[in-house]
This record gives sequence, C-alpha cells and structure tokens, in this order.
Amino acid sequence: MKKNFKPESLMMSHGYKPELSEGSIKCPIFQTSTFVFKTAEEGKAFFELAYGLRQKEQDEELGLIYSRINNPNLEILENRLSLWDKADDSAVFESGMSAISTVLLEFLKPGDLLLYSSPTYGGTDHFIHDFLPKIGVDAVAFHAEDSEEEIEAIVKATGKADRLGLIYIETPANPTNSMIDIEMCNRIAANHKNGEGKTYVCVDNTYMGPVWSKPLEIGADLVVYSATKFIGGHSDLIAGAVMGNAELMLRVKTLRTFLGNMVSPHTAWLMLRSLETLKIRMEKQSRNAQKVANFLNTHDKVEKVHYLGLIDENSPNYELYKRQYNAPGAMISFNIKGGEKEAFKFLNSLNLIQLAVSLGSTESLAQHPQTMTHCAIEPKARERMGVTANLVRVSIGVEDADDIISDVEQALNAV
Ligand SMILES: *Cc1c(COP(=O)(O)O)cnc(C)c1O
Repeated sequence: MKKNFKPESLMMSHGYKPELSEGSIKCPIFQTSTFVFKTAEEGKAFFELAYGLRQKEQDEELGLIYSRINNPNLEILENRLSLWDKADDSAVFESGMSAISTVLLEFLKPGDLLLYSSPTYGGTDHFIHDFLPKIGVDAVAFHAEDSEEEIEAIVKATGKADRLGLIYIETPANPTNSMIDIEMCNRIAANHKNGEGKTYVCVDNTYMGPVWSKPLEIGADLVVYSATKFIGGHSDLIAGAVMGNAELMLRVKTLRTFLGNMVSPHTAWLMLRSLETLKIRMEKQSRNAQKVANFLNTHDKVEKVHYLGLIDENSPNYELYKRQYNAPGAMISFNIKGGEKEAFKFLNSLNLIQLAVSLGSTESLAQHPQTMTHCAIEPKARERMGVTANLVRVSIGVEDADDIISDVEQALNAV
C-alpha cells in the first residue's frame, strides 16, 4: 500500500523501523565500523550473500557486516533516494566526483570509447582527459547544437564506433542551460554496441534532479548526482549518488565496496534530514527563480538571460523542454552589459546573495564562471560554450523572492 504514496510523503519514514532503535522516531546515527553477529552461522550466511557465493533465499536480506559494505544510515538513505527516480536501487558516495569516477571506471575498460556532452562539470572533464587515457579509454565530445547525424559522424570518425562503451551527458549544461535530448542519446546508444556488450547512457542530473527531471523514466541506464547540491541542499555536506536498475547497481556497489568511497554514517544521516524537505525546497527555489529570471529579462543592464523558464513556446527547444523537465529549475545565468568589470561590480555589490560557487542550496549564490568554475577550460572552447566575461551564474535559494529581486536590482544599479 505504501508504494502508492508520493516520495515526499515517504521521506520521513520509509525503510526505518523505530522498534529496532528504542522507539526513536528518527533514525539514529549508526556511528560504528562493524556489527556483531548473533552466531558464527549467521556471520557465515551474511558473508555468503555479500560475496555472491549463493543466491538470496526468499525474503532474506543482506545482514549488517561492516560499514564499508553496509550500514543502516546508508541503506535507509539509499532506499529513500531511489523512490524519487523510481530506481531499483541507488548507491551514495562521499562526493559527486566519486560517484561519477566510479561509474566511469566500472563501465569503461581499456580500448573503449566514451562519448560525452560538452560542456561538462570541470572535475568530470578533468577525469575524462587526465585520467581515463592512462587506462586506455578514449573520449570524444559533442555539443548541444549538434544533430543526431552529426554526433553519429563524430563517433564514426574516431574509428572506434564498435567500442562505444558509454554516452555520458549533462543536461541542462552548466552554466548556460543548453539542453541535450536524452531520447536522442538512447537512440545513438541503441545503434551501437561495445564489442559484445551494450552501450550505456548515463545522465548527470545534478541541475534538475531528482524532482524536475527523471532520466531513468526517459530510458537512460544510469543517473548520477552531486548530492552536495539540491539533495543535500544546505551547503553543509559533500556527497554523490548513482541510480539505476538492479543489475547495473550491483556492479556500481561492488566497485564501491572495494574503492571504499561510500558516504559516512554522519553524512548519510544529514542527507536523510535533507530529503524530508527536498520537494518543498526545490518547488520554492524554482518559483523564486522564475520571478528573478522575469525581472532580469526586462532590466536594461542585462543583455540576455539563460533560463529554461524563458524558452519561447514557439521555439524548437520548447518541445524538448516540456518532454524532459517538469519545471524550469533554480539555475539562472545572464550576460550583463559590459565585461568582467561590470560582472564583478555586480557580484561585489550583492548583499543578500552570497558570492560562492556550488548550487542548489537554501541560500542564493552567485559566481563568475569564466574566472571561477570554468577558469581551467581552454579559452576558445570556453567562448564557444558561451562562458564569456560578462556571464554571471546565480543559484536561487528559498529566501523571499522580492528580497532576492531587490538585492539583484540594487547590485545592477551599482554597475
Ligand atoms: C558539483 C557538481 C559535480 C561534482 O560533485 P561534488 O559533490 O562536488 O564532488 C558534478 N556534476 C555537477 C553538474 C556538479 O554541479
């Protein structure tokens, strides 16, 4: 019966049994490294399952062994997180980067080709270009404006179209909000194989998930998150997550066990608390962002606003927007008239909005991508992706919308 409740209704209780914790209504922090077995036979049975030495009996669950393998905070968190994306399972990591690098390591092997959308998060970009070549994995990029035929041609030109292991995309792209069509990526993946294996599609859904976009429902194989952002939502933790079907998640979790990059019990506990308010925070943030974007769009010191909620209904992008997202999100970028000087003056004049990178948190944040988050990207490529000297990125929080707007207005007036 519980299955019919919406995720936001289940975030306070799902997967937790108070009777196992002295009746405590909230899940305690299980700050422990190891777990005591009742008998040697029980320990043996737990290990047999954990190491895949035999199949699960009916209703048998993996017993608690050691906190690198499993821990109540981790398991309850993963059970709850999976509900948002209707995933079979999820795995939570100590950072978004460790979730992403674990997926790339598990689903790519020497000789494979990775196709990815550019721009991608700076840390991901670094891992793709500075680490993957060391294990013999080649990567090739495409851009939001490339057509399906053009992307197929890019893959073909590598001479490794028969070794396409993974299509990795980030949509909408940071910081310009340009969209990639997930269904198109599924078609490209279906057109290819990786030797005898399947080509998988992985979506970094940090910008829009898990509330505003559900890539697994659109047919992606894996979804990754920086849970530091909307999921954590309070700028007080670093974490990451991966979601997908049972078969793929078993692979991800097995590698996690041996890399040892699972989230700690304390951070998992903080995330359980964050999940209780995830929906209400994100709804408010998106409503606020639409108001701020509307204001920016009419201001005469602003050249152009990049926000999904401003896509014209007659533009070809509108159909994709409606198909892939159920709200415009909380990330806005805009070109201020002028260059770095004007952008910096704006940033330095903000009072309520704080000058910091990261995003998706309760407080509104602003930054300058060209000299901050995207400073390591080669200038020509950066220009091509629209990260210019006059571009400012804002992440809208849960403050009063009129207060945010009045802060933006006074900072624009100061320019
Ligand atoms: C922040 C971020 C990451 C990296 O996550 P960490 O939690 O900082 O390791 C990956 N992808 C996107 C889109 C991000 O915004």
